[in-house]
Order: sequence, then C-alpha cells, then structure tokens
Amino acid sequence: MGTDRTEEARGPCPCGQGEVVVERCTADHPFASADHWWQSRIDCPNCAKGYEVEDDDPGQAPKLVLKTEVAKRQSWTQAWHQQRKTIMGLPAVHLLLKQLASRLDQEKSLAAKYRLLAQHHLASSALATFRKRFTDSSSYAHNLSPTELPGVMDLLGVSDPAITAALQKLQQLWAEMKKPLPAVATGIAGLAA
Ligand SMILES: [Zn+2]
Repeated sequence: MGTDRTEEARGPCPCGQGEVVVERCTADHPFASADHWWQSRIDCPNCAKGYEVEDDDPGQAPKLVLKTEVAKRQSWTQAWHQQRKTIMGLPAVHLLLKQLASRLDQEKSLAAKYRLLAQHHLASSALATFRKRFTDSSSYAHNLSPTELPGVMDLLGVSDPAITAALQKLQQLWAEMKKPLPAVATGIAGLAA
C-alpha cells in the first residue's frame, strides 16, 4: 500500500530562482475514503525561509503564505491556550464550580444530576456513559471546559461580569486563531491567490 500523487500546482517561487510544487495525495488501497492531503515543497533556499504552503481553508486550493503570518497565528493559538488556563484559575470560577458541585449533590440520583446538567448543555455524553464516568460532583464540575461556564452560570442562575469578559476575550482569540492566513499572489495555477 502506498500513496498516489498528482501534481496540482507547479510554478516559479516569488524570487523567481526556484519553484513551488504542490502534490495531491490519496492512499492507493481500495478501502481508502475520498480523503486526500497535500504535500508541498518550495525548491528555493531563499523563499523556503520566508514562505510556506498552507491549506487552512477547507474546500480551497492550497496557497502560499508568509512565515511571519504563520508565526502570528501560533502566537494567537498560544494566547488562546493561556486564556483558557487563566479563566479556569480565576477565583470566581473556582467559586462557581464549587457552587455547581453543591447544587449537584442536592440531586439524589445520578439520573437527576444528569437531567439537570443536560438541561444546561453540560452533559456531553449519553446517560449510560455518564453513569460509568461520573465519580463525584466536584470532579465533574472541575473537568468542565471554559466554554461550558455560561451553562454553569445559567444552571445556578448567577452571572459574573469578570467571567463573561474573560470568556469574550477567549472567543476573540479563537476567531483570530481560526482566520485563514492571507494568500500571497503567485500567479501559479492550482494555488489559491
Ligand atoms: Zn525563490
């Protein structure tokens, strides 16, 4: 078993002394799905330093991007991870999760806890899986993710401006991180511009 390759794009690199080559790859065995991936190279020592081929926009052809843009996105991604940590470390969040745990403990049965959580979109699994995984209310509460905190506030009927502001910042970082990188115009057929 191997890989089938088709050349999708080939053309001069930005400085003109080398080439950009993009191949479309699929697995060559009969059970392979329609999935494909791209393999690309920049055959130019100058341009390989400053550019990369990216395919961050599903449904679009691959594109040439500046490495500085790739680095910028990496720093957005780091900031997003950091903000998740910051949020989960907020004293207000600790208090909120503690309140959630006490509220859950008031429900006698696991099914009742599950119903309450599910009403606020805080139970991602089916009841059977929930039964298997649930150990105690406090662990459950502390394993929730930052994006589930609005559901927790909803369930408890409380709101906290500091948490809401921190979550808004998280959403902004996510949007920056998910923005497709700007394509460098190359004039090469098969590359997005
Ligand atoms: Zn070049």
